[in-house]
Amino acid sequence: MPVAPFQNDAPTDWKKTENKDNLNKNLEFVKSELGQKYPLLIGGKEVLTDNNLASYNPAAHNEVIGYVSQAGGDHIETAISAARSAYESWGQATFQERSLYLFKAAEIMKRRKAELVAWQIYEAGKNWAEADGETNEAIDFLEMYGRKALELEQGQELVSLPGIENRLEYKPLGVGAIISPWNFPIAIVTGMTVSAIVTGNTVLLKPASLTPVIAAKFMEIMHEANLPDGVINFVPGASGDIGDYMVAHRDINFISFTGSKEAGLHIDEVAHKRIPGQRWIKRVVAEMGGKNGIVVDESADLDAAADGIVTSAFGYQGQKCSAGSRAIIHENVYDTMVDKIIERAKALQVGSGTENNAIGPVIDEKAFKKINEYIEVGKEEGTLVFGGDSDDTKGYYITPAIFKDVPATSRIMKEEIFGPVLAICKVANVEEGVQVYNDTEFGLTGALYTKNRDQISYARQKMDCGNLFFNGKCTGALVGVQPFGGYYMSGTGSKTGCLDYLLNFVKSKTCAENL
Ligand code: GLU
Repeated sequence: MPVAPFQNDAPTDWKKTENKDNLNKNLEFVKSELGQKYPLLIGGKEVLTDNNLASYNPAAHNEVIGYVSQAGGDHIETAISAARSAYESWGQATFQERSLYLFKAAEIMKRRKAELVAWQIYEAGKNWAEADGETNEAIDFLEMYGRKALELEQGQELVSLPGIENRLEYKPLGVGAIISPWNFPIAIVTGMTVSAIVTGNTVLLKPASLTPVIAAKFMEIMHEANLPDGVINFVPGASGDIGDYMVAHRDINFISFTGSKEAGLHIDEVAHKRIPGQRWIKRVVAEMGGKNGIVVDESADLDAAADGIVTSAFGYQGQKCSAGSRAIIHENVYDTMVDKIIERAKALQVGSGTENNAIGPVIDEKAFKKINEYIEVGKEEGTLVFGGDSDDTKGYYITPAIFKDVPATSRIMKEEIFGPVLAICKVANVEEGVQVYNDTEFGLTGALYTKNRDQISYARQKMDCGNLFFNGKCTGALVGVQPFGGYYMSGTGSKTGCLDYLLNFVKSKTCAENL
């Protein structure tokens, strides 16, 4: 099937009045839609349960976004049966047949883009650019995985021997559990789910409890794209009630998870506990946290480096697994860089995403408390040179906190905070900077600012992470451009946004026919 070459969906130009007006109109529309009930969707049937969970606006924590039905163990059993029966035909369909649903969903998402952006602003506390970028990423995942699935249709090229026809074909794994995070509530939900289904699997989708309404919008889109019943079963619920239940279930073949290190390691453990009579070792694809950093050499363009550090540290309030929460700076430019970073942080307005402020709220009360605790730890470990004030009277707001002179071994240089907290550390040279950078349990994103090519070669070899950027920020990896994912305690090493990712969800079968 011929398809146009992949192109990343372009960011919306907010300088254009028509785009601004369109978003404002959608913000009003979404506001009028707040507070509705969202059912489970199992085998194509909507199920409203008595147990509902309210999702709140982090910028106005008494505003309910929606009430979402919560699944229990019985629902999971029904959902697994529904997924298993949908698998009978879905697993047999061709990659091309399945890809078409993704291409259709991408078009629907493009049409509903401003509305999806508005839902994210309300439910996830994003500003316009962050919400827009994420919606583009969701569209990109649909377009990219649709195209890469077409490549899998060909199987693999094999050595040809006379008299034998050999083929390697990719087959789906079966039924999977998708457990998605709140910080990219449309992009990652979409990417994780459609990669698993386009390869022929059927799934149970358990979205993050903090952003389930956006996930319900994703389900609406897949329904509008005519996806057959039972291919995606929507089962929001508490991890303690249904998360482990799904993960441990004998009839679940794989788990695709994005979230914290703790939750990822727990899932890995539960998934691999032996079950009497089991016929399958579950695959676990886990993308977890990061303690990413940016190293700055004395030769660097210091303005570009300060821009990159501030965007990486404080974009979406530092709540990205890719966030650059450490700046590791050459001693000869250290003081200048600290001033430049503070100057840029001062320009960031804190406030609601509806008015497109640079720094919105953090996601909930638990995050607010945890980040504030780390700010106190930072005051012991380094010198607070900017921000760190917080106010939760209306929403969960924290002014970006910048600490300088933080020792390399301190907690705020090593532990993932997942909030707007930047630790700055002084080093004598790039070699030491790289050493400090590597000294965490994670390996997700990093950056080096330098004009020295030898240092770039050195860092290519030695900076140990899944996504390394030179002279650029360490967040915002683009689908197909910078396949994304890390290793060590950052995850199982899968790369989203490229062909490799799809290989997580297939098994290969070789057939040799003697002619
Ligand atoms: N892919 C995102 C980025 O490059 C981060 C994803 C995450 O935080 O889970 O910024």
